[in-house]
Amino acid sequence: VFANVVRAPEDPILGVTVAYNKDPSPKKLNLGVGAYRTEEGKPLVLNVVRRAEQMLVNDTSRVKEYLPIVGLAEFNKLSAKLIFGVDSPAIQENRVTTVQCLSGTGSLRVGAEFLARHYHEHTIYIPQPTWGNHPKVFTIAGLSVKTYRYYSPETRGLDFQGLLDDLNAAPSGAIVLLHACAHNPTGVDPTPEQWEQIRQLMRSKGLLPFFDSAYQGFASGSLDEDAQSVRMFVSDGGECLVAQSYAKNMGMYGERVGALSIVCKSADVAVRVESQLKLVIRPMYSNPPIHGASIVAAILKDSHMYHEWTVELKAMADRIISMRQKLFDALQARGTPGDWSHIIKQIGMFTFTGLNAQQVAFMTKEYHIYMTSDGRISMAGLSSQTVPLLADAIHAAVST
Ligand code: PMP
Repeated sequence: VFANVVRAPEDPILGVTVAYNKDPSPKKLNLGVGAYRTEEGKPLVLNVVRRAEQMLVNDTSRVKEYLPIVGLAEFNKLSAKLIFGVDSPAIQENRVTTVQCLSGTGSLRVGAEFLARHYHEHTIYIPQPTWGNHPKVFTIAGLSVKTYRYYSPETRGLDFQGLLDDLNAAPSGAIVLLHACAHNPTGVDPTPEQWEQIRQLMRSKGLLPFFDSAYQGFASGSLDEDAQSVRMFVSDGGECLVAQSYAKNMGMYGERVGALSIVCKSADVAVRVESQLKLVIRPMYSNPPIHGASIVAAILKDSHMYHEWTVELKAMADRIISMRQKLFDALQARGTPGDWSHIIKQIGMFTFTGLNAQQVAFMTKEYHIYMTSDGRISMAGLSSQTVPLLADAIHAAVST
């Protein structure tokens, strides 16, 4: 009965790892997937996560009953505080509903399903370019996806005028997907002044912000700084949605821990919104997993562990920033043609190199370096040892 099923293509991002795994070369380097690696090229479990996990394992009073549909209440409260700030008026006024979801992707998906059912405008504007899964998540939920200009290949920076023009031309009420910080794949974020202009324009046109916060703390090393864009929108009293992920900032990738928050105009609305979120979640996966959320809650609620986390998080962010400088210096030293200053200007996990698909294919074939065909490289996958190899490969790719 399945004889006519056609073979689907690999996911463009995860497919890079599939190709990498098949390569027998000992010097191969995977800069495709956005997961942190140590200087030794190994995955990292944070010490504070190990400690929290051990505590939970030792606590024999803990059981593995189902969580409620909306997840672990304590985790939800703490997650809202983390993104909106401890003294957020929206939280104090009970205008926020937060539900635990399956990491960032699941949070986006639940938010999208809710909007498709309960929001009058079904068009969502996403930046061009954006994370490859965004259009798929929103389309499958029944929203109609359009793009707004974001990146200028000429300046390798923000196309701010294009962004403003496109949002200005969007129909009133349209949903707008915003990367809270460390825009993926470009590493280009608006300045605080530009964010303020975006906020004013969106509020004046009644556009609904849907923030994707997958990198809080990872961009600047500061959890508060990386939440500024979101807090700016919440402090004006208007509505917004936020999808949070603990994949990167706690290294909890495979535990699938995240949260969706919907900021409403009143506590009464928030209660009704939450009741509808339950109806979205129940037939999808019934309720979320308990383990990862318990680890995150244990860390967020304990001031010592929280502090330990911020130190480890900053160390990850700093290592990525130092890789930017090292790669830039290595290209300078080789006299590689072109201006590479965007490598140190961009922020977050990725550098949008400006290399084209042909140059990427060359680097994979000749140097066994793997990355997405749009020229995005994960700085978190680099180390002092591998920077020279990457610089050689880039130099050869742009010189041929
Ligand atoms: N949004 C963006 C912009 C991302 O880069 C990612 C991860 N690559 C996600 C969401 C979702 O990640 P996860 O589902 O693993 O939390």
